[in-house]
Amino acid sequence: MCGIVGVVGKPARDIILKGLTNLEYRGYDSAGIYLNDLKGHEYLTKAVGRIKDLKNKMTPDEQGLVGIGHTRWATHGKPTVANAHPQFDETHRFYLVHNGVIENYTQLREKYLKGVDFKSETDTEVAVQLISKIARDKKVDGFTAFKEALKLIKGSYAFLLIDNTKPDHVYIAKNKSPMRLGLGKGFNIIASDAVSVLDQTKTFVDLNDGDVGDITKDNYTIETIDGKKVTRKPYVLHMDANAASKGGYEFYMLKEIDEQPAVMRRLSQDYLDEDGEPTVDPKIVNAISKADHLYIFAAGTSYHAGLVGKALFENFANIPTEVGYASEAGYHFPMMSKHPFFIFLTQSGETADSRVVLQQAIKRHIPSLTMTNVEGSTLSREADYTMLLNAGPEIAVASTKAYTAQIA
Ligand code: GLU
Repeated sequence: MCGIVGVVGKPARDIILKGLTNLEYRGYDSAGIYLNDLKGHEYLTKAVGRIKDLKNKMTPDEQGLVGIGHTRWATHGKPTVANAHPQFDETHRFYLVHNGVIENYTQLREKYLKGVDFKSETDTEVAVQLISKIARDKKVDGFTAFKEALKLIKGSYAFLLIDNTKPDHVYIAKNKSPMRLGLGKGFNIIASDAVSVLDQTKTFVDLNDGDVGDITKDNYTIETIDGKKVTRKPYVLHMDANAASKGGYEFYMLKEIDEQPAVMRRLSQDYLDEDGEPTVDPKIVNAISKADHLYIFAAGTSYHAGLVGKALFENFANIPTEVGYASEAGYHFPMMSKHPFFIFLTQSGETADSRVVLQQAIKRHIPSLTMTNVEGSTLSREADYTMLLNAGPEIAVASTKAYTAQIA
């Protein structure tokens, strides 16, 4: 799952290319961009390799006031130009970028799309062909066809769709893949990670799983797949746009290692008073002290921070603590004590495996706390309590400052 950036209402090319470049650190194998100038010209360029390879393929006249871009980490089909996104339908009307995996793409293809001329091996093309087929067969507009298709699609997705018969709209949908809407004056932006577009706006709207939206330059509407309108409140994301740049360092990892003292200072300001006494939200302290057993769930580096947490909780608080890999607990939910309390450690707040465990905890009414670096992230919104690490964006894949912040 890689990166997505969409823009409506502003020269889109550079914003998209820069946003995708900001997401490069996540790794990807190919990239693509669709632009529409709203005067009848549209441009689609895709390349295997880096964003700079994509740029090299674009001519200066490829500009647009609406556009969608994508970096792909192939799950279905090799990294080729044909498999790169945006994917389009056989009538060249719909253009779609997608982060995620469509689980029932074979069934959809067999049931609804016999005889369609597929150009790629991707699950994503099945989605865009399906939208187009529904629009033609049922003679409905693109947004309605999109929602009808979403009712049939199973899996994870952050989708941005352009219907070139109504090119001043970007249609969006989210399920289990991150996506945020950024609001500007006379333009709007959609991105898989807010950090990638912080130089354009700091006002964001978080989308929930199952949300579908119609975004124009001055407006946005969000509804459920069944058409029930929902309101999601905009908020200002307190993050410095430069925080995600290398700031003179050769590598992000070196910069992030050096940032650790500053992160520790910030954390002590946030969680200790002048006398050095903890100022953690009493509700969290109260909930934890009621527990007879703590369960820490995490993945990767956070799991190791969890092991340190176990030693600290058992030594200082005398509460037996278990640490589990979220990826395992999703399949085998551990046997629980009478009064368990769950702690999720997740840098991004979007770790899919941890989220599966959190969903089960919610069903069983087990109280939970997410410790994350990203305000407003999915796990933060869904757990009962959140503690923010405030370590700033961590770009290097080997975690350093987020790990030390979790331990602190
Ligand atoms: N499943 C899609 C593909 O393989 C999207 C992969 C991604 O999230 O980048 O094309």
